[in-house]
Amino acid sequence: MVARNAVRISTHFWLYEFASPDTGAVIIHPVLLYRLELLRLAWGDPLLIASGYRSAAHNADPKVGGLPYSRHLDGRAVDLPIGTVEVPGPHSVPWWRARGWIPSTEVDILHALALRVGWSAGQVHDEGDHVHLEVG
Ligand SMILES: [Zn+2]
Repeated sequence: MVARNAVRISTHFWLYEFASPDTGAVIIHPVLLYRLELLRLAWGDPLLIASGYRSAAHNADPKVGGLPYSRHLDGRAVDLPIGTVEVPGPHSVPWWRARGWIPSTEVDILHALALRVGWSAGQVHDEGDHVHLEVG
């Protein structure tokens, strides 16, 4: 069986990665995908999409905590998860990077790379446990 939305949409991303988890429906703005691919190339390691497109129902779920006019609702935002680096401990920078998470000690690096590939400062938000990136 072929997985739903198993369509490669750029060098590093598949359509299903952006789908709303409740319905599998997906919308993605082409500029978001373009910039995300540039960011992935600059970052040099996988980028896990913790949240991409959200259906209205999924966005309204209290566990999701989406804002009423969230850009996730029309495929113009993604969230990249942040992992807490523990030194000493197993959760090192390479450990998180290999899994596609942003190490907590490298959020500033990701932010700088995002600006370099075209995002503006107002479109990149450190939300504590994830980085939210959006396009206008
Ligand atoms: Zn977000």
